[in-house]
Amino acid sequence: MSDTLSPTKAPKIGFVSLGCPKNLTDSELILTQLSAEGYETSKTFQGADLVVVNTCGFIDDAVRESLDTIGDALAENGKVIVTGCLGARSGDDGGNLVKGVHPSVLAVTGPHAAQEVMEHVHQHLPKPHDPFLDLVPGSFGEAGIKLTPRHYAYLKISEGCNHRCTFCIIPSMRGDLVSRPVGDVLKEARALFEGGVKELLVVSQDTSAYGVDVKYRTGFWDGKPVRTRLLELVQTLGEIAKSYGAWVRLHYVYPYPSVDDIVPLMQEGLVLPYLDVPFQHSHPDVLKRMKRPASGERNLERIQRWREICPELVVRSTFIAGFPGETEAEFEHLLEFLREAQIDRAGCFAYSNVKGAAANELPGMLPIELREERRARFMAVAEEVSTARLQRRVGQTLQVLVDKSVGLGKKGGVGRSWADAPEIDGQVALLPPEKVSKSYKVGDFVRARIVGTQGHDLVGMPV
Ligand code: SF4
Repeated sequence: MSDTLSPTKAPKIGFVSLGCPKNLTDSELILTQLSAEGYETSKTFQGADLVVVNTCGFIDDAVRESLDTIGDALAENGKVIVTGCLGARSGDDGGNLVKGVHPSVLAVTGPHAAQEVMEHVHQHLPKPHDPFLDLVPGSFGEAGIKLTPRHYAYLKISEGCNHRCTFCIIPSMRGDLVSRPVGDVLKEARALFEGGVKELLVVSQDTSAYGVDVKYRTGFWDGKPVRTRLLELVQTLGEIAKSYGAWVRLHYVYPYPSVDDIVPLMQEGLVLPYLDVPFQHSHPDVLKRMKRPASGERNLERIQRWREICPELVVRSTFIAGFPGETEAEFEHLLEFLREAQIDRAGCFAYSNVKGAAANELPGMLPIELREERRARFMAVAEEVSTARLQRRVGQTLQVLVDKSVGLGKKGGVGRSWADAPEIDGQVALLPPEKVSKSYKVGDFVRARIVGTQGHDLVGMPV
């Protein structure tokens, strides 16, 4: 073949994605568009013509990691575009924080700015001209490149948040709630299932508030009207998932009364009986100081009611110990809540100031040692509750989604039941199948009898 006929090398972009699942979905959007336009993408800086770093700015460690990564990319490559939460933050002098630390970056954008990032990429690394690819429609909002394994995917339903929790700077970085049109969300979901996704994880900053900003307006899906509201979204997602034999899992659900209507759908099997509810605390006064959504709700009674409707419900949550002004009595209230609510999986941070957050100015800042000590006490109770909850699974037969398979089934595999979300919860260690010829395939569902526990995990024998 003559040289003139060989295609020119595609420009290559090194892409680094840091932070939470919500950030990951932004990265996926940008990566999808890059490859739709004919750019080559890679996870390393090596041989890249330009690097994009999608940053996180939530806690101080994340800020450090993001700034270090940008520094590494500049040292190794030199041409760097920064996007994500940290990109929206100001430094001490009021100027852009990233530009202050790394003045040689080519451009900085805030989060949720895929179009802006693309414009900067075009400016610094012109897009390859390909008469065929130029005809491919843009993939924004449809299922595109996923950074998760092929069998599960995050589905972001909204951006931003209408609350102003005193410890959080997300609304100042991501703005108020903007719900994605329900038709677009459902279209993306179906494309993901079509592409082999077996578990869809619904994410946002405040999943229960979906549609509030558009007054729950009616959208369209498959020619039928669907309201932009969590209940209708979950119902429809559940129905689509059913036809693909897939799971739907809900994250960041605040305990508003409207969630009571979602729980029966869990009992029906339309959506997994699993709720990730970021309670952060239990004491009403602390919740008020935190300015938490649903702080006036009776959370304990709410969980008990949910469990009456759906006894299998698993609740995972995160908490903050040692919030400014937290008294010993308030902290003990939290421990008692943990025991009574029987939270299946709980994570806990010792409170720490986040630059720019209102809580930094609250009176009654506790010594770091006390915050850490309370976190440790919290975790001890959380473990106790979690271990007891796990023990109840021994003897049950569960459906397990295979995440990893080792060898020819000889060494078994690793999966998860409906009770565990990827990366944050536990796993099911699958023992080797009795038939040596049989092996597990990633993304397959298997049925396993739980024969024991191992720390936070279960051990299952396939049946
Ligand atoms: S609900 Fe509170 S913690 Fe969550 S994103 Fe909104 S302001 Fe931040």
